Amino acid sequence: MSGHYAIGIDLGGTQVRTALIDVDGKILKRASEPTRAKDGADVVIDQIVRLAACVSDGLQQAELAGAGVSSPGPLDTTAGVALGIPTIAGFAGYPMREEIGRRLSLPVALENDGIAAAIGEWTFGAGRGRDNLVYVTVSTGIGGGVIADGRVLRGRRGMAGHVGHMSFVQDGELCVCGGRGCFEAYGSGTAFAQRARAAALDDPSSSLNAVRGELSSEDVFGAAAKGDRLAQALVRQEAEILGRGFAALLHLYSPEVLVMGGGLSSQFGTLEAGIVQTMRVHAMPAFRDTPVMPAELGSNAGLAGAAVLAFERVRQAGRP
Ligand SMILES: [Zn+2]
Repeated sequence: MSGHYAIGIDLGGTQVRTALIDVDGKILKRASEPTRAKDGADVVIDQIVRLAACVSDGLQQAELAGAGVSSPGPLDTTAGVALGIPTIAGFAGYPMREEIGRRLSLPVALENDGIAAAIGEWTFGAGRGRDNLVYVTVSTGIGGGVIADGRVLRGRRGMAGHVGHMSFVQDGELCVCGGRGCFEAYGSGTAFAQRARAAALDDPSSSLNAVRGELSSEDVFGAAAKGDRLAQALVRQEAEILGRGFAALLHLYSPEVLVMGGGLSSQFGTLEAGIVQTMRVHAMPAFRDTPVMPAELGSNAGLAGAAVLAFERVRQAGRP
């Protein structure tokens, strides 16, 4: 069928992933490999092209609507240009949309990863049928995307929704963005694990000290589940930090639902009570009944959202 499939491409700091996705959001085929993040843009684009060819092998060009790319930002998605990706070298000022389109001979939609994942959850996941939602991904960093009044909020140059870089604390922790006191510098999985490492050193009785290798956020959740008091306190503190950030987002966007994705959302059940309790304290009364839900698509949200944009682009191009 003509234009029935799209290639979703999820460029991340650790993995490049591609998938063949149909118009209903079903993933039919996938491929991935570790991102050669230090080798420059041309090498990474080669990876994308090769993995896209893997998943579309055997299809006629006419069966493909196009490709959608979800990439860490900031990206200028109006111009189709990466403005510099902190975790992948060589992309400052790189014309990503044009270059990938040329190499694949397909129309390409380019989107910031937080927005792409928000679109995925909005179309196929926890935000289905809503006109207003905020999606927050909590993993290595914190990112997000906003759907407001039934449309994607993109802002100038398509850069809206960098929710991890709201600054909370004056002269606070240094953030990867170069600023200080950002939500990400406190609430991300990276910050959580760092805090746990420091706290464990001060508490020799904690089982966290018995973990071999570098302590990860999974280790802390694991120890908390087994009754380690320090780990439990660290989890409570993490939930409070997330709850404060989420409350600020309710005030900004008044969503019908706030969807939490990213690696830490696999522990949503553990964090939920603390997040909700904190939001009730820090959100103004009129906002307190807003539900917080875990993402449904997991790590596929960005791939699915990117594919939605590829289909959309074709639909728009076909309009009179
Ligand atoms: Zn920041």
